[in-house]
Amino acid sequence: MTGGADASRGTNHAAPRADAAQAPIGRLAPTPSGRLHLGNVVAFGAAWLHARAAGGSVLLRIEDVDIGRARADLADGLREDLRWLGLTWDREVQPQRDRAYDDVLERVRPHLYACTCTRTQWRGSYPGICRDLARTSGALRLRLPAGSVSFVDLARGPQAFDPNALGDPVLRRRDGVYTYTLAVVADDLRDGVTEVVRGSDLLDATTQQIRLYEALNAPPPFWLHTPMLVDVNGRKLGKSHGSRSIQAMRAAGWTPEAIWRLALPWLGIAQGHHLHDAVRVFRAEALPPGPIPVTIPEEAPP
Ligand SMILES: [Zn+2]
Repeated sequence: MTGGADASRGTNHAAPRADAAQAPIGRLAPTPSGRLHLGNVVAFGAAWLHARAAGGSVLLRIEDVDIGRARADLADGLREDLRWLGLTWDREVQPQRDRAYDDVLERVRPHLYACTCTRTQWRGSYPGICRDLARTSGALRLRLPAGSVSFVDLARGPQAFDPNALGDPVLRRRDGVYTYTLAVVADDLRDGVTEVVRGSDLLDATTQQIRLYEALNAPPPFWLHTPMLVDVNGRKLGKSHGSRSIQAMRAAGWTPEAIWRLALPWLGIAQGHHLHDAVRVFRAEALPPGPIPVTIPEEAPP
């Protein structure tokens, strides 16, 4: 998956994909820290529709590298929620907790430095305190080169951010646990994923990931960032802000069809389509930029 440079990908990509020689490979990559909620439905729905609309395949990968908050029973619940919504996958790949990342870390070793800082030592993003201190232990950070990173988002078009505004990302914590930043890039490369679809709250962090692809001398995937859902107060809709879980909506009488009638317009698809009809009309470019204010009806529709 590291070969076959595609000029339309990543930092240089301006043109649409040149050929269909490689069928797209998308993925559903839920983190088992809770059950699915409507915000996940947007991201996973877009990932599924984007891959299926292009005749591609869909992988399932449980993202539980952060084993402190990942629970096996929650992974089963996520699979159940996805199946119930009709978000099928062609195969499930190894969960992160069963994978090794030492080899990937070694490939970027020249770009790493150890950091012994604690979070209380600075405000905001990490200012690079340990960059030139040659620490011998601590968390391992990726040394970001100066300058901004540009890429093309399949919905939003050309994007440019300076990842240094976020600071050098930690790839391995001081306790030896690999971070999401490292794991997701390593796994997408190993799994052959060509389409990464995720929430637009991660739009700037995508540039950190592109720097990691560069350090690995590997081509980045295509990126598609989905609109954020917000509540009436403009806060991101998540399980912490009273968005009911899909499990709870199901228990309250919602059907998958009713949930998709609610959610498909958030993906730029006119009302009245079922998920499988939506495959025929889904276009990444039609995704609204968001944020989308959402009010979930208390009662399941009849
Ligand atoms: Zn430091």
